[in-house]
Amino acid sequence: MKQTIMRFNRDELGDWVAELACGHAQHVRHNPPWQNRSWVVSKDGRNKMVGQLLECRLCDRLDNQDQADQNSVISTNEIPIPSFATRTMMASLNLSSSLFSGSR
Ligand SMILES: [Zn+2]
Repeated sequence: MKQTIMRFNRDELGDWVAELACGHAQHVRHNPPWQNRSWVVSKDGRNKMVGQLLECRLCDRLDNQDQADQNSVISTNEIPIPSFATRTMMASLNLSSSLFSGSR
């Protein structure tokens, strides 16, 4: 989910953290060649990014959790109550096992 960058903070290691409109914080490291965010090391670059959108992975994760919760509720409702047929089958199993032991 894309969220607006409100401002930038530094964590205890000196890495830049974007504070997003949703209240989450996300690291914006300049770590080439994997993460190429040269803009984050300059004050101008960061100022330009304030108000821009950044993909918030925490929001995405919360969204997925919500959907998973809803799915689990639906599937719980769909679990059938043991039917008469199941109980009859179990009773007949007990019967046949007692017949078997009686024939010895
Ligand atoms: Zn978020």
